[in-house]
Amino acid sequence: MDSSFVITIDGPAGSGKSTLARSLSAELGWPFLDTGALYRAVAVAAAELGLGGAGPEALADLARGLEIAVVLARDVSRVSLAGRDVTDLLRTPEISDLASRLSAVAGVRGALRDLQRSLGSRGGIVTEGRDQGTAIFPEARLKFFLTAAPETRAERRARELEARGLEVDRAAVLAAILARDLQDSTRETDPLREPPDSVRVDSTSLSEREVLELMLARAREVFGRISGPEGPAG
Ligand code: C5P
Repeated sequence: MDSSFVITIDGPAGSGKSTLARSLSAELGWPFLDTGALYRAVAVAAAELGLGGAGPEALADLARGLEIAVVLARDVSRVSLAGRDVTDLLRTPEISDLASRLSAVAGVRGALRDLQRSLGSRGGIVTEGRDQGTAIFPEARLKFFLTAAPETRAERRARELEARGLEVDRAAVLAAILARDLQDSTRETDPLREPPDSVRVDSTSLSEREVLELMLARAREVFGRISGPEGPAG
């Protein structure tokens, strides 16, 4: 696997990973992989089959049997299940909760590992999730760990939901963020951890632009001048 040109971004829910990964990807001309979308796709399949409350074995079997495909892009990567585009079904509170629960299942994580690595093996990719710098691309040359205070993350998430026309109970959003933090950082397989060789960015009091500038500066330091639609390995 050549992960030399992989930039990983890990961090807790609502830390701004997706937004920043997307902006960084647009600036560099590298595609962007939102790995949460893969767990969410498994959750959609589980929900549709009535397996939301199923045990680890059944969920792992389901994930192994799914035909998940991703078309990488610089804005929203499209995810399909057996040829059916499910991208628009991925971002509901129910699917967030189910994805978080099933991502704790070792067999589910294993089923998605090779897919993630193969998407990164072409090089020139910005990938975001919880375990990208630790478990999936440990050799990546540039790793970020993005974080922010839970209240700040909850407020961002609430505004995102409001922008999509959903009604928001702020206390419930904060409680859900804290529950997901706990779930993601205490699971046995590939828990959310700060990679020891990562650049830590706390965005609590930084604007999105400031965080992006900081990340771009590091990318230029590590990779030199990078630009162009295909990226360096394209
Ligand atoms: O990032 P996003 O909120 O879309 O992720 C959905 C869920 O998938 C998260 O709660 C997290 O538990 C899980 N996830 C993971 N490992 C990743 C990406 C996401 O466990 N690399």
